[in-house]
Amino acid sequence: MKNILDLSRSELEKEMTGMSAKKFNAAQIMEWVYIKHAEAFEVMTNLPVSLRETLKKYFVIERPTVEKKLVSSGKDTIKYLLKCSDGVLIESVLMKHIDRHTICLSSQAGCAYGCAMCATGSMGFKRNLSAAEITGQVFAALPDMDSGEYSGKFNVVFMGMGEPLANYDNFKKAALMLTEKKAFGISTKRITVSTCGVVPGIENMIRDGLRFNLSVSLHAVNDRVRDMLVPVNKKYRLEKLLTACAKYFAFNGDPVTFEYVMIKNVNDREDDLHELIAIISDIKIDCKVNLIPYNRINIKEFSASTSATIDLWRETLEKEGVICSIRREMGADINAACGQLAGGGF
Ligand code: SAH
Ligand code: SF4
Repeated sequence: MKNILDLSRSELEKEMTGMSAKKFNAAQIMEWVYIKHAEAFEVMTNLPVSLRETLKKYFVIERPTVEKKLVSSGKDTIKYLLKCSDGVLIESVLMKHIDRHTICLSSQAGCAYGCAMCATGSMGFKRNLSAAEITGQVFAALPDMDSGEYSGKFNVVFMGMGEPLANYDNFKKAALMLTEKKAFGISTKRITVSTCGVVPGIENMIRDGLRFNLSVSLHAVNDRVRDMLVPVNKKYRLEKLLTACAKYFAFNGDPVTFEYVMIKNVNDREDDLHELIAIISDIKIDCKVNLIPYNRINIKEFSASTSATIDLWRETLEKEGVICSIRREMGADINAACGQLAGGGF
């Protein structure tokens, strides 16, 4: 039995043709499952009875279930622990801002990339998430959004557990479903994909015409430090990564964001700052820098840069004309902040 939530729109349309049904039945089914949250084919009363019977024979409608929910003390962050049908646990986070909601999605259970500062990396890789398990995280968060009229009103960041571009096909399917009018209907501009630097994945997005916001976990300005913090750098060197970013910018036209976790005495020296400014000026594309205060995780001896250093970096970057923000960490008290998701902080 296939899970209907794992099919893209075109796959669903193909299935319809195979079942001698009409192409528009695919859109009707999508509306039932994504907008009306139908959990069974019987309720899809605008479909012919025979089609409903056939669908029942070959498909299930299956979403991960919400096992637990944790609300931060400020009530602005909610972390969800979801259970997949094989028992695998995944986490996602809803961040409520005054003017927008942002859902942080996981793309894999665990992660194979083993970045030195990341709790997800330290748990190792379990498996890729299916498209249904990715969009299922959005379903989990919908009841906690203030407005029932959610369509078009939330942002999605692929910044939870795992590396989205290492699970490219399912990430793509889920992200496109988010933009489908008959599903979640949000604009591509509301979707951000964060990558540790999987260069072929960035190239695939260009090939496939996926115009999302690109965030790159840079974290270091030379290969020596980056090899240590973000080991995938040994495979895709900094120069290659920056070239891929420039190509993506040429294709998309929107600024590329460089994320930079500030770790005391590791990547926050004055030389690093000047090198970062040089890199940005050399690459000649619109970009932004997002400085992330390091969040302590249990296993590593790193410590966070002082707020004076972080402020100095921001001021200097801005003086150089670089748009720079400091990430306001939300939900650190419930282990929901960047790098803290490890499926066990409940
Ligand atoms: N795998 C993707 C998506 C995860 S995003 C990526 O690496 O980009 C999670 C973000 O949090 C990444 O920028 C990651 O480098 C950062 N991060 C990891 N550990 C962190 C920590 N301990 N404190 C702050 N940020 C961290
Ligand atoms: Fe994986 Fe991203 Fe964590 Fe690195 S930072 S281990 S790529 S989730």
